[in-house]
Amino acid sequence: MSKFYNIPAGMVICPVCFESLNLQGSSLICSNSHCFDVAKQGYVNFLLQAPKEKYDKRLFQSRGYISQAGVFQGLTDRLSALVLQALAQRSPEAGQRYMVKLLDAGCGEGSHLSAVERKLAGATGNRLSLVAAGIDIAKEGIKMAVKRNPEVMWGVADLAKCPFADRSFDFILNILSPANYAEFQRMLAPEGLVFKVIPGEEYLQEIRQVLYRGTDRRIYSNDRTIALFRRHFKLVAMERVKYEVVLDQEHFMHLLQMTPLAWQLSWEQVQQMVKVSKGRPVTFDFDILTGKRKLN
Ligand SMILES: [Zn+2]
Repeated sequence: MSKFYNIPAGMVICPVCFESLNLQGSSLICSNSHCFDVAKQGYVNFLLQAPKEKYDKRLFQSRGYISQAGVFQGLTDRLSALVLQALAQRSPEAGQRYMVKLLDAGCGEGSHLSAVERKLAGATGNRLSLVAAGIDIAKEGIKMAVKRNPEVMWGVADLAKCPFADRSFDFILNILSPANYAEFQRMLAPEGLVFKVIPGEEYLQEIRQVLYRGTDRRIYSNDRTIALFRRHFKLVAMERVKYEVVLDQEHFMHLLQMTPLAWQLSWEQVQQMVKVSKGRPVTFDFDILTGKRKLN
């Protein structure tokens, strides 16, 4: 059963007129009669028209496949720990049940949010009533996400018009995906936190070294991304998560498939890389920026 059948009052809003959406049958309807159906698979499409850009289904399939092999677990475990750490500071009274709302903005095929949701649900048990939502503009991704974890409210939506009320979320995740900071600011609760994950300087360096051989593009900097983040949020913490994973050939191929920078490779170059990488570790390196509202 779709999580949209059980939404907290006032949380989901119409992306056209910003009025609350209320459930009538299997549709979400606002007072101006804008209507969004809960698909039989359980997600809701909040887009008024399909995006011009086509998203590659294979990219999401590959990322899902890689995730299932645990390649991102170091990252999602850390994100879950950061959420739990923030909750521990916030709710010192033991034994009290509380509701926490978490959004993954730009969730793709949902594997990161799925992992975080499961980890949090497992760690907090009945103490926590977790409302997790994941949105992405790519319907292909959301369709995969619903199958992955039905405990999450999944929606196809434009990050520039998020279908959630002001100050709805205690935590907003934005993982290796473009952001819309104005919307994040609007939706973040006064004491809420934004966790933005960006590739660290050694992220997939084994692949990048091959791709950018002989150019200065190997030198990678997050300075501009961090500066932009700081313009919108108070940067309260920044940390690095780095680990190495040895992938078998099949997973290595999927890794290339989900990495846009590798799409320019010819088939021969791909074969060559797969051969060279055999048995060698690949570096996963991320920076996690933690932000707070500047003004409440
Ligand atoms: Zn409306």
